[in-house]
Amino acid sequence: MISVDEAMNRILARIHVLGLEKVDIISSLGRVLGEDIVAPRDIPPIDNSAMDGYAIRSVDIKGASRESPVFLKVIEELPAGALPQRSITKGEAVRIMTGAPIPTGADTVVMVEDTERAGERVSVFQGVPPGENIRRAGEDVKKGDRVISKGSLIHPAEVGMLASVGRAFVYVHQRPVVAILCTGDELVDVDEEIADHKIVSSNSYTLSAQVMECGGLPLQLGIAKDDPHEIEQRLRQGLRADVILSSAGVSVGDYDLVKDVLAGIGFQMEFWRVAMRPGQPLAFGTIGGKPTFGLPGNPVSSMISFEEFVRPSLLKMMGYKNLFRPVVEAVLKEEIRKKSGRRYFMRARVSLEGDRYVVTTTGPQGSGILSSMVEANGLLIVPEERTEIKAGERIRVQIVDRSFESAGMRNPFGVENP
Ligand code: AMP
Ligand code: MG
Repeated sequence: MISVDEAMNRILARIHVLGLEKVDIISSLGRVLGEDIVAPRDIPPIDNSAMDGYAIRSVDIKGASRESPVFLKVIEELPAGALPQRSITKGEAVRIMTGAPIPTGADTVVMVEDTERAGERVSVFQGVPPGENIRRAGEDVKKGDRVISKGSLIHPAEVGMLASVGRAFVYVHQRPVVAILCTGDELVDVDEEIADHKIVSSNSYTLSAQVMECGGLPLQLGIAKDDPHEIEQRLRQGLRADVILSSAGVSVGDYDLVKDVLAGIGFQMEFWRVAMRPGQPLAFGTIGGKPTFGLPGNPVSSMISFEEFVRPSLLKMMGYKNLFRPVVEAVLKEEIRKKSGRRYFMRARVSLEGDRYVVTTTGPQGSGILSSMVEANGLLIVPEERTEIKAGERIRVQIVDRSFESAGMRNPFGVENP
């Protein structure tokens, strides 16, 4: 049996970043960029107005005020998207809208609020220094600038920047295809007839959902009976995937055949069993270099093994730099006891109380009890050597809920969530 940290290190050492594929920029959201993005031109491309107003020469309106306005002749109307046809000389103005190019001769823009229009004439009530209300060419991005670096995670702002620099398609790291095989004579699929001695293979679905949540592509290999031939036949169909996951049959029972079957198809085992709870009977290795996880069958063991080991692996394959969920410190609201020697991941709910996080467990922690996983937004990380933690102690909690809101985070409006 190895420690959780050693297991993580040994797994990540076997995980390689996938190659690149070209995707449209909307589909690049949440992906990791595989190239540097360089601006082919300035943004904005030319000086333009930051205000609705009049483009003028600042010398012409020096000292203007309500009491002694300066009168200028309006020679052109310039909406955004139009090019100036005239240049400005002494005593002239161009009516200009936000985003329209600054005409030659003008060196500043006076806001419309500080003017009054009468036919071809405009009265200006306010002096404006040169350069006011002008957005300079290249003030956002200069031609040749690297605007997004290879390895960046793409958020909506990056998508907008890609569009701004004229990129409709970009190279990103591929998403791993993850084969999922569930094993067990007791399993039926969700749409099959159920009997009291059978259970629905919920792991087929939680694992697919977990794969999808971190951006991978699940490949369902179905359910195999506890029969070596059937397990092998189905696993072979998964060999075209980037990662292979099997669920159950990896413990020490008489029908725990997965490790043997894997060995028969070239599985190089790195380790089996991790000092954790739930999730101890995890097997990890490679088949032809492909990472292969023999996950435990109990629904919560399967989920937590995925959470702790498979998720970081998939993120690494997709080129992510940050592989791990956030961990917060929270005040424990109840006493917990455990055996020493293993790290416990306990289903828990974190919330904000005043300025601090507090946390309670979500009930029974048996590895088959999915309902306490449903209630959880975090996992208490209880260190190996600890046997009890008292109420009021601070404890680390891994947040497993993507929408942090349910941790009771405040929103910027001070409004209660519904
Ligand atoms: P095993 O590791 O094969 O002994 O499985 C442990 C327990 O996990 C079994 O008794 C089942 O109750 C449960 N189990 C195994 N596979 C699944 C699955 N695909 N979905 C839900 N529960 C499962
Ligand atoms: Mg079984």
